[in-house]
Amino acid sequence: MDTCVTIERDGNIAVVTIDNPPVNALSFRMRGPLHDALAELDGDASIQAIVLACAGRTFVSGADISEFGTEVALAKPTLLDLCAQLENLFKPAIAAIHGSALGGGLELALACHYRVADDAAKVGFPEVKLGLIPGSGGTVRLPRLTGPEKAVELIVSGAPVGAQKALDLGMIDAVANGDLVASAKALARSKATETDHPPVRVRNDLLTGTDLTAFDAAASALTKKSRGLEAPLAAVAAVRNAITLPFDEALVAERATFLKLVAGDQSRAQRHLFFAEREAGKVAGIGKDTLIRTVRKVGVIGAGLMGGGIAMAFANGGFEVVLLDMSDAAIERGFATIEKTYASSVARGSLSEDDCARRLKRFSTSTDYAVLADCDLIIEAVFEDMAVKHDVFAKLDSVAKQGAILATNTSYLDVNEIAAATSRPSDVLGLHFFSPANVMKLLEIVRTDQTSPELIATALDVARKIGKVSVVVGVCHGFVGNRMLTARGNQIEPLLLEGATPQQVDRVLTEFGFPMGPFAMLDMAGLDIGWRKRKALGQRNLIADALAEDGHYGQKTGRGYYRYEEGSRTPLPDAEVARLIDETARENGIERREISDQEILERTLYPLVNEGARILEEGIAARASDIDIVWINGYGFSIGKGGPMFWAGLEGLGKIVERLEYWHQKTGETVFEPAPLLRRLAAEGGSFTG
Ligand code: NAD
Repeated sequence: MDTCVTIERDGNIAVVTIDNPPVNALSFRMRGPLHDALAELDGDASIQAIVLACAGRTFVSGADISEFGTEVALAKPTLLDLCAQLENLFKPAIAAIHGSALGGGLELALACHYRVADDAAKVGFPEVKLGLIPGSGGTVRLPRLTGPEKAVELIVSGAPVGAQKALDLGMIDAVANGDLVASAKALARSKATETDHPPVRVRNDLLTGTDLTAFDAAASALTKKSRGLEAPLAAVAAVRNAITLPFDEALVAERATFLKLVAGDQSRAQRHLFFAEREAGKVAGIGKDTLIRTVRKVGVIGAGLMGGGIAMAFANGGFEVVLLDMSDAAIERGFATIEKTYASSVARGSLSEDDCARRLKRFSTSTDYAVLADCDLIIEAVFEDMAVKHDVFAKLDSVAKQGAILATNTSYLDVNEIAAATSRPSDVLGLHFFSPANVMKLLEIVRTDQTSPELIATALDVARKIGKVSVVVGVCHGFVGNRMLTARGNQIEPLLLEGATPQQVDRVLTEFGFPMGPFAMLDMAGLDIGWRKRKALGQRNLIADALAEDGHYGQKTGRGYYRYEEGSRTPLPDAEVARLIDETARENGIERREISDQEILERTLYPLVNEGARILEEGIAARASDIDIVWINGYGFSIGKGGPMFWAGLEGLGKIVERLEYWHQKTGETVFEPAPLLRRLAAEGGSFTG
């Protein structure tokens, strides 16, 4: 027998131990030997109960994701077969869970008659995060143990629960104190003498009499924010089947749904993102032996919108923070916003009063750069102006201790140029947070020509500690995210002039999957920002500038591309804006026409992909999947579409090139000129993401 499954006999109890490093995944090489071991023990009259345990750091942690979509995944015995085998044993099986039992691992445990977990164990069904539902009985067995409402909550959220909670919910039968396998054996001994061992499949008490109306209401509340994702809805349907259908029928329906989802684009996209996030941590020139500098105290310069959020992100992560601004008034304003944000989290119940107090205690404030002398990491979030940044970095160079990391949160400026204001450019990098910085997951780590590998390794480590998803990028105007956003936005004004409305453009992009359309977003950020920037650069956007000149600054003035009623953030169509667009078009000799939704998609999203290709060509991003991570975590690109570069593959690179060429010819705009990489991949029939 393969050594990845072993049997140890102890009187009338047998312990089957799975040892399939690193995480005891349910790969094909393990399933066969497990099946054989169970069959052998079932036929062994001297054995009266079986403990199923795992070696190494965890119980069966889940399916082998690399097998998904391949023939090996379906090779017998499948997990479904193993679950049926466990359930039909002549003797009880007891799962002994340590580490985590997730997905297929939990399904295996639920097919056992009983479950014991050590107190640090975690159990759950993360499948929805990969665009799937449990496919081997999870949605049919779990409701029989927890009741359907709890089950649907667990499966739709995808979040694991700890052992004690699992015990309270009925998912497991005991929490082990001390030796897990010894506890499982003790339970096995007590059950071995009992004649009746009902498997989970026959336990219907918690299903009978379910109020379906209440179930449906609870389930629809859970899926309200699923934004076009299929898996959460499929999970609800599967648990509902567990209530309304006999066990075997519900099992067949669950399997059919799983197989459909696993072959579908959404799950492929979500699996791509799962691997993309892991890949993003691998950075050229950074290895396990790259030194990571110690970071305890963090200085944040600028107590404005970004500085406040960044300071909170670090305080939330347990770091000591000193917040600096130019005047006491600016500090007071900034700190009051921080206190207000924490207070509203406490009021909402998402933060305890104790935690709030602990976080606030980590802050100190000052207007004197000298206080930054003992900071390990200093991040500036002052005005977006090269002269101001230069001034700040020159000051930092004189006060910061040797070895301190100096970071800029600039959105667009050249970080090489900022670093040149210091005598230590290898200690300078960009840490580009997104607004609100205490909430948004994304962090672009901007590597200059001279940033030392130690800095990058430390930034990756610190980012992880404050719960950010980070991507290392190179220096260019706007880095990866904002540079591509600019390309996406290039055509929105021409689209208005040629016949579209703000509401049509926003509808098309929200229907595509963005949480907000570009015009609603501009109204939220403030139209005055872009207007001032363009004025400084001697540029002009006909409609945007006319609106700003007329006091349409967006939500803050109650009028932007939309109008807003007092105290409301709901964008309403504005007849005055429609008139302005009409007039501007007429004055500029543009004949307005009907614009199709497809045209809007092509003129906004194809340039987005094209700019991504240029970014790859220039080496600003190391891989296409890094770009997808940026757009998923920073710009709300739909998870079910996998990010712009993955989506480009679904759309067809050939089609994208063809349409870009068409629009390039028509408009002469460089955003439409297909990037050589895009052309080459399209010609080869390839994709960006393999
Ligand atoms: P903000 O105007 O809200 O805040 C800037 C703060 O910096 C103000 O409180 C100001 O008093 C202070 N300040 C200016 N000069 C200073 C100096 N020399 N020393 C100390 N304090 C000084 O601006 P913001 O929106 O927070 O943007 C800050 C930076 O973050 C900019 O570089 C911006 O491009 C970047 N950024 C902004 C966003 C965003 O969504 N707003 C997102 C990512 C990055």
